[in-house]
Amino acid sequence: MDLVIARPEGLYCPPGDFYIDPWRPVERAVITHGHGDHARTGNARYLTAEPGAGVLRSRLGADINLQTLAYGERLDHHGVTLSLHPAGHVLGSAQVRLEYQGEVWVASGDYKVEPDATCAPFEPVRCHTFITESTFGLPIYRWPPQAVIFEQINSWWRANRDQGKASVLFCYAFGKAQRILHGLDAGIGPILVHGAVEPLNRVYRDAGVALPETHYAGDFIRSDPLLRQAIVLAPPSAGGSSWMKRFGDYSDAFASGWMRLRGTRRRRGVDRGFVLSDHADWPGLLWAIEQTGAERVMVTHGSVNVLVRYLSERGLDARGFVTEYGDEDDASAEQASP
Ligand SMILES: [Zn+2]
Ligand SMILES: [Zn+2]
Repeated sequence: MDLVIARPEGLYCPPGDFYIDPWRPVERAVITHGHGDHARTGNARYLTAEPGAGVLRSRLGADINLQTLAYGERLDHHGVTLSLHPAGHVLGSAQVRLEYQGEVWVASGDYKVEPDATCAPFEPVRCHTFITESTFGLPIYRWPPQAVIFEQINSWWRANRDQGKASVLFCYAFGKAQRILHGLDAGIGPILVHGAVEPLNRVYRDAGVALPETHYAGDFIRSDPLLRQAIVLAPPSAGGSSWMKRFGDYSDAFASGWMRLRGTRRRRGVDRGFVLSDHADWPGLLWAIEQTGAERVMVTHGSVNVLVRYLSERGLDARGFVTEYGDEDDASAEQASP
């Protein structure tokens, strides 16, 4: 029996009668994490990992009907044993483990395998069937260690400061921004954020994640000399808006896994691209899949066909799963989320 099937409303567990990250409103929704394409409004009840509660309330409203589980805690529902395990993607992100009559399925949600200081690290979970994401499921996607990227970002910021220029870094407001904040060298200058970023910083700080001091960029006027020493974190949607005018002659950059692709930086029209993703790269996906010991792999998001073919050639029962998940590194996904 399949413990998860694709329905028009989203991924559905028939024996448990609940959905995982549904894209249409349902009665019971298990949410892997708070990104806009996975956590949507309108569900009657929500269940998520305890560290993700603040994110969900901040994004979907304080009044949602929300139940939480600690990582690893088990819940029995209609004979299905459900537990949530760290996915290493963003604060509170979880893989959903389902066990029913001896069968074990794990739905990964989004994940990355390199540990970072802003969320619990990815934990491989043994299962018979693994539903994996595949946002960067092509062999060309290999991430440099994040320490190298943070060093690049700090050097770029320092060089701009020495030339009297603000450094504007575009990145997704939830997850990526906080990961970058944690990697910044606050000794270089002031750290400013767009209004879309600061509410998430508050949630991270409340959860005990150490972030450097940040200021609202909107509180600074154009003539303020501090702006020319500052780094500014803003969502991609702020690019080209009148909000940018206060920074005068600035240098800009974009932090995303897509920066690994030649031409992306130019298309974005920014001075620099930093290869930083909250998703697993190709070796990370293959490692995670192997760690589960699963014989059957269902692939969602992104390069489904390439990964399905690769796994099939290695003797796994692999197939694609049609979902409506997007990609938070993409500016259009950014605009679609609150
Ligand atoms: Zn995500
Ligand atoms: Zn996703």
